[in-house]
Amino acid sequence: MPSYTPPLRDMRFVMHEVLKVADEFKAIPKYGDADADTINAVLEEAGKFASEVTFPLNMSGDEEGCKLNKETHEVTTPKGFKEAYAQYVEAGWPALSCDPAYGGQGLPLVVNQCFYEMLNSANQAWTMYPGLTHGAYAALSTHGTDEQKQTYLPKMTSGEWTGTMCLTEPHCGTDLGLMRTKAEPQPDGSYRITGNKIFISAGEHDMAQNIIHLVLARLPDAPPGIKGVSLFIVPKFLVSKDGTLGKRNGIYCGGLEHKMGIHGNSTAQIVIDGASGWMVGQPNKGMQAMFVMMNAARLGVGNQSLGLTEVAYQNALAYAKDRIQMRSLSGPKAKDKPADPIIVHPDVRKMLLTAKAYAEGGRALSIFCAVLLDKAHYHPDEKVRKDSDELLSLLTPIAKAFSTDNGHIATNACMQVFGGHGFIKEWGMEQFVRDNRINMIYEGTNTIQSLDLLGRKVLGNNGATLKKFGKMVAQLVEEEGVNEKMAEFINPIAYLGDQMTKFTTELGFKGFQNPDEVGAAAVDYLRVAGHLVHGYFWARMAQVALREIAAGNTDPFYQAKLQTARFYFAKLFPETATLMRTARSGSKVLMDTDLALA
Ligand SMILES: Cc1cc2nc3c(=O)[nH]c(=O)nc-3n(C[C@H](O)[C@H](O)[C@H](O)COP(=O)(O)OP(=O)(O)OC[C@H]3O[C@@H](n4cnc5c(N)ncnc54)[C@H](O)[C@@H]3O)c2cc1C
Repeated sequence: MPSYTPPLRDMRFVMHEVLKVADEFKAIPKYGDADADTINAVLEEAGKFASEVTFPLNMSGDEEGCKLNKETHEVTTPKGFKEAYAQYVEAGWPALSCDPAYGGQGLPLVVNQCFYEMLNSANQAWTMYPGLTHGAYAALSTHGTDEQKQTYLPKMTSGEWTGTMCLTEPHCGTDLGLMRTKAEPQPDGSYRITGNKIFISAGEHDMAQNIIHLVLARLPDAPPGIKGVSLFIVPKFLVSKDGTLGKRNGIYCGGLEHKMGIHGNSTAQIVIDGASGWMVGQPNKGMQAMFVMMNAARLGVGNQSLGLTEVAYQNALAYAKDRIQMRSLSGPKAKDKPADPIIVHPDVRKMLLTAKAYAEGGRALSIFCAVLLDKAHYHPDEKVRKDSDELLSLLTPIAKAFSTDNGHIATNACMQVFGGHGFIKEWGMEQFVRDNRINMIYEGTNTIQSLDLLGRKVLGNNGATLKKFGKMVAQLVEEEGVNEKMAEFINPIAYLGDQMTKFTTELGFKGFQNPDEVGAAAVDYLRVAGHLVHGYFWARMAQVALREIAAGNTDPFYQAKLQTARFYFAKLFPETATLMRTARSGSKVLMDTDLALA
């Protein structure tokens, strides 16, 4: 049976010592009260909720899964899920970062992001029910009419109603322009929606009174392709003018998918049979509104893998200290025992440190992105809002794809630490691997994230936003370039920063001549960019640790941080050289292989 301890110390380190978030929030009037003590106190309670309420339901939820009653179309979630959700609502957790205008507590989004990391460590399947509601809330608060906001947001803020995103159809997932769901205008201003959606997470359940589906569909006169897609609110139960629930709408669960992981989350086939819907935003501009939800969800998915990386690491570490097997190559270490604990073996240490480095680097990136989101929404200075938004849009595909790929590497490595026992269910390690696997697929596969990064976010604006991140790296290099103690952390990012400019220009040039060159290089490119970003945060974390040690601070946390930074730069970061080489090898070997694939 695995265990979980919320990584509050590391969250405080990143937020207050590295990024100094409370200082950032002083400039945002809405967050005037969000000082470090308040944030820490909230996260301490949040950690208790995750570790004491949802974590104990993780393995049982996986074992039991969700059940569909085919006659009533009702879904029953695993034992305890409903009660845990009631506790979550009762304690006011859904409202944490929501707008006080709708009953929210108005805390910074970064607080919610840290809470969700812990919830994901504890139980990703459960967390997806409330998690999707935050994305739907964001889309409605940005693109909804005043009436829609007043009708839906207070109940989503309180957690009485949850949200979903209904994009995927049996014949289209990545290419949503192929979508067929229809929306016919009705005389009362509503729309009659008809179609079939599949793979809808939290699409039907017994945890909340109502489910607010955000559905993409096509108007009768819509142009073909993605430019003819509109967004609609389609509630499970219709909502009367006074906010009370009316009759059952024609949207229901026709089946549940049997899947590799996240068994406790209902992945629903959704039948939409002449349901009433209301348009969000403008006709044929549905993707604009849906992108608000998708961007929130992409950061959320990166955070899911971060959570799983952390919990897998904690359990692998405890096991490696306890399990004795063979003697250390350099002579016995536990002489009083018949063998040494496996943590003495170099490769076991490498697996553990890989997970630790990806968890801590990923946490720095996740928290940084959430602060950018806070600034992009609420900073009083328009330029800060715009800059934050641009940087966030560059980092979002990295936070999604790099974090989830790393989650795959890390959860696998942690399972490997357990040897054969990792493969056996009772230890819980194989569940972390299975649950993580979907994170690389949904919300735009990691290939699609790479194309978004290289094609749209980098080459699409001639590298302008990438240069902004490059400037942050250059500033750190300038600050610490003469500090010998920082050389081992600064030199690699300074070198890669330089290389990145040449590498990007080269790919841009090749892509201009042949677009398949971009497609062939994108996945490797994202991983190189991911290391530049992690490398930057590791250098900043090492900088703080070195300063504390120099000032006489003897807290072993700082030595551990420094050692992990050294491991990261020695063992993980150097894969960038191979990745650049494979990216440069081009598309020809892929595209001229008809015989090999025949
Ligand atoms: C458990 C689960 C939960 C989900 N939850 C939701 C949800 O809540 N709401 C929702 O709407 N959807 C949801 N999805 C759907 C998910 O987002 C899609 O499965 C995903 O976007 C991929 O679409 P697809 O399955 O149709 O694959 P396809 O689009 O058919 O892709 C197949 C392969 O081709 C690759 N590919 C496609 N186009 C390109 C290209 N241009 N260049 C390079 N490679 C390409 C893909 O990367 C992939 O490897 C969920 C899926 C699962 C399994």
